[in-house]
Amino acid sequence: TGAVAHELGYPLYAVGGFVRDLLLSQPNFDVDLVVEGDAIRLTQELVRQIGGRLRSHRRFGTAKWILPDELLKAVQPEDNGLLDSLDFVTARTEFYEHPTALPTVERSSIKQDLHRRDFTINTLAVHLNPDCFGQLIDYFGGRQDIDNGKIRILYNLSFVEDPTRILRAIRFEQRYNFKIEPDTLRFAQDAIARRLLRKLSYKRILQELILILNERNPLPALTRMGEIGVWQHILPEVDLDGLNYIRLKRIPIVNGWALEHFYLREIKTWLIYLVIIMENLTAESISAISARYKFDKYIVRVIEEADLARQLAASIDSGDCTENSEIDAGASHFCNETLLYLLLCINSENGWQYATAYLQAKDMVKVEIDGHDLKALGIKPGPVYSKILNELYRMKLNGAITSREEETALVHKFLKEGIF
Ligand code: ATP
Repeated sequence: TGAVAHELGYPLYAVGGFVRDLLLSQPNFDVDLVVEGDAIRLTQELVRQIGGRLRSHRRFGTAKWILPDELLKAVQPEDNGLLDSLDFVTARTEFYEHPTALPTVERSSIKQDLHRRDFTINTLAVHLNPDCFGQLIDYFGGRQDIDNGKIRILYNLSFVEDPTRILRAIRFEQRYNFKIEPDTLRFAQDAIARRLLRKLSYKRILQELILILNERNPLPALTRMGEIGVWQHILPEVDLDGLNYIRLKRIPIVNGWALEHFYLREIKTWLIYLVIIMENLTAESISAISARYKFDKYIVRVIEEADLARQLAASIDSGDCTENSEIDAGASHFCNETLLYLLLCINSENGWQYATAYLQAKDMVKVEIDGHDLKALGIKPGPVYSKILNELYRMKLNGAITSREEETALVHKFLKEGIF
């Protein structure tokens, strides 16, 4: 890419999180590329010379290069899907999040582009043109701050301009075990005291909260949000000292189990954290928070299922509810996150065995015969079909029958005995 940019006379840089993590020897497959020139034209040229596809946003001056398969195979033989495209951005002076807040994108130098960023650790760039490949660009002391573990804003009004940066500062600080530098902390606390977070939409705050809750270990960031005084502007209904930290700390373990057993099924880890954070709240507080943050239907559903999941976990623990079909009676409609929350609420070894056995059975068991088969057996179509199929599912879930032949035999038995 550097060579193609060079042909066009465009300086090209890798910037931001990618460079930061490179210096910290942390994996990061999110490569942001900034070009002092027309990003779309550069990407068109890459597609022409090397292949792949282009997706562009002319208004933003950004372009995504979907890498050609041959190149992907060369750089990433295992096809783990971590890197399948590169994002090119034309160097610009404004940082924007919403298209509506966007001033016309003007071309500018890399220095101005880097100056609009949040913290010095995110202002490093690496030259990619062949004549100066690998040269580190460090206008704002980012290298030194990375070496000393400091989170530092670039200008005093940074938090006033964008208060989400307060949450970003905490996220980076806790992720890398850095320290927010004293002046930066003072500016953050000042912005909080002046209630600048009110300037933000709840949607923006939620986005940042989700990023925090998706961190490998979000708990220290929660504590820090309490310490700095930002938590009470985010979820004042929740007392951080009253959270069930044992349950919260078990999330990665239960998630690990889920990853093994629910291969590739999407699970929103942040939502499981949120459910536990909100689990002691009254119904009124929950509806107030849901309305404030405009939670979508799915989030509301998962939060509302939490009570049922806790009750079910208690009966599994107590030995009242142990058979797969009994657990299924309470859990069959639970969202995936609720199923994991159910596991998190289990407190006994036996309970864990019952609940995980159920989840595994649920994942594998499928009734093989269907309405056509029932018709072929001479049963008149009607509500009886779902009764029979449900009963077959129940028996199969409990392991009482395992094959299609056994299903058919059981239907014959139902008919003979006039059960349905
Ligand atoms: P992560 O590792 O969490 O993905 P990142 O820094 O790579 O962190 P992004 O949040 O995607 O991830 O941000 C990309 C770059 O954009 C950052 O390096 C930062 O310089 C800049 N940036 C993002 N949000 C802001 C903001 N609110 N204000 C200023 N700069 C920002």
